[in-house]
Amino acid sequence: MECRTCGIDKELSAFHRNKSKKSGYHDSCKECRKEETKQYRESHPEEVKISKRNWEISENGKASKAQYRERKRKENGEEIRKYHRDYHHANREQLLPKKRAYYENNREALIAKSIESQRRNPQKARERAKRFYERHTELC
Ligand SMILES: [Zn+2]
Repeated sequence: MECRTCGIDKELSAFHRNKSKKSGYHDSCKECRKEETKQYRESHPEEVKISKRNWEISENGKASKAQYRERKRKENGEEIRKYHRDYHHANREQLLPKKRAYYENNREALIAKSIESQRRNPQKARERAKRFYERHTELC
């Protein structure tokens, strides 16, 4: 289809969809629309600011912003979890004997330390144990 702006005949995938058009696509290709939008933004900074603000305080704008934030939050959470999971799996073989050896070598000290900290601050120790447990059930 021919772009109304640059006149170049392009694939349909080069055009944004537009249901209000008979063809189902915008008259101008994506590139031209990008350029137009850019130029419009540059020549109408106030209008752009106002319409952006209006969009942000509208119900749709709020919903879309919340949705975006939620998606980002999930993506990040998933990414971090995945990173830990991969790291854990990739290093499980090496980490496990090391951990075990460390534990064996420092058994007495570790036990003493944990008893000591538990005695000094039972609430904190319980919380730490809970966190540790949660983290590890999630990872394994
Ligand atoms: Zn074009």
